[in-house]
Amino acid sequence: MTGSYTVPELSPDELTLIRIATGIMQLAEKVQGGKPAKLPYPAPLQLGFSQLSKLCLLKGAARPKSVPDLLSWCQQSPLKDWPLELPEYNFSSDDTLLDDQIPTQVCSNLAELAGSNSQVLAELTQKRIIYSVFEISQQANAPDAYVEFRRFIITHPVATESDLVKRRLNLNPEALTKPLEEAYEPAPDSCLVGDCYQCCPNCGNLLRHHIKKGRVCDMCDYAGDGATGRRIHKQEEVYWLKQGLRRYIATPGIPELRLEKRLQELGGNLEVKLWPEFDRYDLRIVFPDGEAWAIDVKDWKNSFALAKKVEPIPSDPPWERAYFVFPDERRKQSYYLNAFREAAERVLKNKTDALFESDLIDKVKKKLGV
Ligand SMILES: [Zn+2]
Repeated sequence: MTGSYTVPELSPDELTLIRIATGIMQLAEKVQGGKPAKLPYPAPLQLGFSQLSKLCLLKGAARPKSVPDLLSWCQQSPLKDWPLELPEYNFSSDDTLLDDQIPTQVCSNLAELAGSNSQVLAELTQKRIIYSVFEISQQANAPDAYVEFRRFIITHPVATESDLVKRRLNLNPEALTKPLEEAYEPAPDSCLVGDCYQCCPNCGNLLRHHIKKGRVCDMCDYAGDGATGRRIHKQEEVYWLKQGLRRYIATPGIPELRLEKRLQELGGNLEVKLWPEFDRYDLRIVFPDGEAWAIDVKDWKNSFALAKKVEPIPSDPPWERAYFVFPDERRKQSYYLNAFREAAERVLKNKTDALFESDLIDKVKKKLGV
């Protein structure tokens, strides 16, 4: 990371919304496994609530009466209707902070902005678990162990007792057993359909009931009847990756692994390495002529929030070119790339650019001559 990088300043309206989003993420951590939320509410949510009330009073707008009232706003009222001035975020008419009881992608994008301003998210489970995997692998000088652990949880958002036993037997260093056990929790009964759990046909994650949409996946945007996905009988003892790991590791991991596969399939003696040197960035590719490119895959729903949070791609391990890469599905959102380019100008220099996945593949093909 370069020394000149500074975190962009946030306006009072932005700070208010970011505090609320952060509070919701913390609340969601607390209620995991179906345990009801205990009072007091997380501090950022309380603070966000009182700041929002004050802003509403100043603007003469209707205000939430209590934190539970604010939580129903978060479910029902689109962010673009909130009395906050945030035109640059380009919220769409269905962007809310909560979908049913679950924080939306936009909510987690906003909460990530808090992470760059304070240590507010540092206690979250996923950071602690991934950090211990990092430490154990680093002490054993085993960068591949780190990569394989991460690859396993991305490809196994749901695992049976026997999947986990098999994995434990192959773990090296053995000390990774503890973070593996900590990464999963028993799948909740609330997701059962009869005696079976249903998995997402796209990504293998557990499907849950949704009042309006039927069966939904919180890792990809799947909604439907889930008929074509894997079904696992509850007798097999089913485990589910913890929410923070699903959201911060497994969900972004899907496009990372997909890009790794697409690059490997190009052939042409291209060297492809995931999370080089303990995750300095997402992918490093080296061409037969020795030129290296660094790639960071970013899949945020809101590209303006992403641009505010993003940091320059670390210069080590070294590279000649660097790219922020967005999944092709994001092309459907108008201005996605332009909004990012305009707001992330400070990091798009020194041979760094931003583009969609297929455009990167085309560039690589051209250079390889395949
Ligand atoms: Zn899915």
